[in-house]
Amino acid sequence: MNETAKRARATIDVAAVRSNVRALRDRAPRAELMAVVKADGYGHGAVPCARAARQAGASWLGTALPEEAFALRAAGDTGRLLCWLWTPGGPWGKAVEQDIDVSVSGLWALREVTEAARACGRPARVQLKADTGLGRNGCQPADWPELTAAAAKAEADGAVKVTGLWSHFACADEPGHPSIPLQTAAFEEALEVAGAAGLRPEVRHIANTAALLTLPDAHYDLVRGGIGIYGVSPSAELGTPHDFGLRPAMTLEASLASVKRAPGGHGVSYGHHYTTAGDTTLALIPLGYADGIPRNASGRGSVLVAGRRRTVAGRIAMDQFVVDLDGDRAAAGDPAVLFGPGDRGEPLAEDWAEAAGTIGYEIVTRIGTRVPRVYVDTDAGKGGVVTTGAEDTGGEADPTRTGGGR
Ligand SMILES: *Cc1c(COP(=O)(O)O)cnc(C)c1O
Repeated sequence: MNETAKRARATIDVAAVRSNVRALRDRAPRAELMAVVKADGYGHGAVPCARAARQAGASWLGTALPEEAFALRAAGDTGRLLCWLWTPGGPWGKAVEQDIDVSVSGLWALREVTEAARACGRPARVQLKADTGLGRNGCQPADWPELTAAAAKAEADGAVKVTGLWSHFACADEPGHPSIPLQTAAFEEALEVAGAAGLRPEVRHIANTAALLTLPDAHYDLVRGGIGIYGVSPSAELGTPHDFGLRPAMTLEASLASVKRAPGGHGVSYGHHYTTAGDTTLALIPLGYADGIPRNASGRGSVLVAGRRRTVAGRIAMDQFVVDLDGDRAAAGDPAVLFGPGDRGEPLAEDWAEAAGTIGYEIVTRIGTRVPRVYVDTDAGKGGVVTTGAEDTGGEADPTRTGGGR
């Protein structure tokens, strides 16, 4: 094992990513699939996950930030790629040069991208985003006729090509929520207005993973799968990953840093929120909130150690936490599995989410840069390690150094 992976490691099974992409495509057979790899592939490594998703038939990739899109191009991806979170100043020109589709939600952005396209001497690929009710990014219905008309004019002038019309749901993870039909109707209306302005986009899209899984009428031409491609459920109410044929791609494991006998009545970790009930064995897990283990899960999260799930004893500290082995035997160096696909009885990321009062997205996305990513492909022979991201993980937060795929 790589030196830096001895303490702890997040093992990413790229075969799981491929299998999840296939499972999601099967659920949306008439639509193309965009694999959303923002935030370093939700903590899994954008480049290796993008590569796996492409292999399984994702014809689009999606990122939030421009630098995330540029990092995919730098890693050699040449396919369709949409980037949607822009602020004044772009950099639009770089996106135009690199054939990145850019999202535009307002006139200021259309103006800036049009100027950049003229400077580059080639049209920008633009996708207009409608706010159909999320109230986040996107153009309000009142401003949509003006935006679509301006985009149609810029297209006629040869400065842009409007490749897509799109939007995003607020409550797709709550089937039956009254906002869903309202947003769908607002999207239909936005498409009509755009059509009347003369726009004929390649793709119309509104579905994230939850909508992909539960709202076939919302698939349109393209579905945007994020959390599902990593094998994490969009919400506990919707179901488990298994319910949807998805397989968690990330396994977070550590090596026990210490195992020792302790007497009854012994306080454990800061604040002494846990006290041993009797003579017992305490195991120290060298991961803490600096690694993304939520401190909110103190006393509640669970870990597989010595064949059983153990609840975190007391506070999760910056670098470490303790579990009480109830007298069971283990040795320093033995594995502790925080979460994974569940095959060995370990918790899922969803279990940590529940323990911390958050969502699975936040658990996997926040696993920090101190934790090396190790890539395996369980479809390739005996699950041999294909890429060890460990040497390369000095900068997960730096999207130009995403994971170990290069
Ligand atoms: C993150 C994101 C997605 C993916 O959502 P999931 O719930 O992870 O599938 C899709 N579209 C937009 C605009 C996003 O920001």
